[in-house]
Amino acid sequence: MKSVFLGTAGVFASGLTSKLKAAKGRKKWDGVFVLPELPYAFNALEPHIDAKTMEIHYTKHHAAYTEKFNAAGKEAGLTGKTANELLKEVSKYPASIRNNGGGYLNHKLFWNMLAPASGKMPSAKLSAALTKDFGSFDAIKEKFNTSAKAVFGSGWTWLIADGDKLKITSTPNQDSPIMDIVSDKGIPLLCLDVWEHAYYLKNQNRRAEYIDAFWNVVNWDFVSQRYDMNNKGEEI
Ligand code: MN
Repeated sequence: MKSVFLGTAGVFASGLTSKLKAAKGRKKWDGVFVLPELPYAFNALEPHIDAKTMEIHYTKHHAAYTEKFNAAGKEAGLTGKTANELLKEVSKYPASIRNNGGGYLNHKLFWNMLAPASGKMPSAKLSAALTKDFGSFDAIKEKFNTSAKAVFGSGWTWLIADGDKLKITSTPNQDSPIMDIVSDKGIPLLCLDVWEHAYYLKNQNRRAEYIDAFWNVVNWDFVSQRYDMNNKGEEI
């Protein structure tokens, strides 16, 4: 069984060059989800997140989710949908799609939501929205930190856009706020991996130390851009 898929070629044929950038990265599943390139060197987030953790996290954990997601997609006979599309209707698919598709996409988002420490802050538009919904920038950090510390076992904490409302939420395992099975749905703006594999080499059991370090390497340009795209930032 082979799916017919025009993909990028169709976009080029349309001649709509303005759409090229938007289409980049929205690869339909034509047999292989590719491990996305890490946008910086393994040591780029030092000293906040160490190079060895980044290397293992990316080359072993993220690579394994990607490989297993591909295997699960093949097993389930899925073709022609993006990872976002599959996860939005994940209740229709086997648990292997939920677990490995979530792992594939969550890490892809996470790498882009991090960047070498720059001291940058959220855009004016995002800052205003954060202040409106949480009271202050410190208050949103506090709420996010509390949520991240409270995750029992493995999971993620998220800042999401639910319509006009910004929310902090957590998901277990590799669940994502874009999945139809989670209670707090929304578009992920910022996320933090709180699986032990994300910090144990450097921080051991001190998750709070890892959460504090994380704020130094948030890619506010990327996060703000996702918000500024009128909440249409669910695909990267
Ligand atoms: Mn991870």
